Amino acid sequence: MTRPSAALIDLRALRHNARVMRSMHGGRQIAVLKSNAYGHGAVACARALGGTSDGFGVAFLEEARQLRAAGIEGPLLVLEGAFDARELVEAVAGGIALVVHHEDQLRMIERTPLPRVPASFWLKIDSGMHRAGFAPDAAAAAYRRLQATGQAHSITLMTHFARADEPDCPATREQLAVFEAATQGLTGPRSLCNSAGILAWPAARRDWGRPGIALYGADPLGSSASPLAPVMTLRSHVFSQRLLQPGEALGYGGAFRATEPTRVGLVALGYADGYPRAAATGTPVAVDGQRTRLIGRVSMDMLTVDLTPLPHAGIGSPVELWGPTIPVNEVASRAGTIAYELLCNVKRVPLQYLD
Ligand SMILES: *Cc1c(COP(=O)(O)O)cnc(C)c1O
Repeated sequence: MTRPSAALIDLRALRHNARVMRSMHGGRQIAVLKSNAYGHGAVACARALGGTSDGFGVAFLEEARQLRAAGIEGPLLVLEGAFDARELVEAVAGGIALVVHHEDQLRMIERTPLPRVPASFWLKIDSGMHRAGFAPDAAAAAYRRLQATGQAHSITLMTHFARADEPDCPATREQLAVFEAATQGLTGPRSLCNSAGILAWPAARRDWGRPGIALYGADPLGSSASPLAPVMTLRSHVFSQRLLQPGEALGYGGAFRATEPTRVGLVALGYADGYPRAAATGTPVAVDGQRTRLIGRVSMDMLTVDLTPLPHAGIGSPVELWGPTIPVNEVASRAGTIAYELLCNVKRVPLQYLD
């Protein structure tokens, strides 16, 4: 038997989520596929989303190149923009849209003769996240300079929310107002919403939505009544078992000590596959479709689960680390992180697609 560990990627669920986000937001949709589609495989996801999205967003040019090399033709947007003039020229020549978010990038476009093909730029305004983007009072001047280069076929006005996943926090409403004021009188499509923006802030929906995490079915609001379906199932098998006697310790650091006879299942998946080592005893896992718990410390290639409450489970029983039974959000919160990090850390296990 080969190692029974894999990440199953349900492309039907991906398409479902893309349709949900698109109809909720209205307008057009950039499906964000950066970081290998949050660990789900960018090329396969791009192919699956061809009919339900209007373009794909990636973080940097190399990610766009990989999509183009795999034959993905539709509109691509590079969310960090170009790092140098060579990238700028290559992107424009390849019909790849670029975010422009700081002075150096703007100056690069002013100084570099670009290929004579329609170039699309997304001008990013810092409406309050204070990470990237032109200051609100510099937005109109940046827009006019971009226009004055004569090299921008279209300019989309965008911003990014810092706290859209907090429906009761006023920060997003303030960002929205700052963006509106900064872009007043400037023509061009608008794009404000990431996944949480689309889900929680109807007033921020505009011409283009930019969902990422929601496409993969991990609701950023942590809502239990989410309309989204999980896309990835991280799974393995129990491949060995043993009985711990009261007082016996399990695994590295003796992090778990049995207080009663405890049947332990050994699972062929560890932190080298992207399962978080920070997940401690008590983190939920499913064995044979039933919830039980992780016990002991996660090691590089293996982890251990409690089979005591599941008398019929044993060697060969399927294990779900996250997926439809165990929400990835729940594992993330047990590990002190967010679903984004867990999903894009998945590695070493093969990705298997369900279409
Ligand atoms: C990553 C990213 C998104 C997608 O964010 P999610 O929270 O995953 O929906 C949207 N816009 C920009 C600029 C991003 O960098």
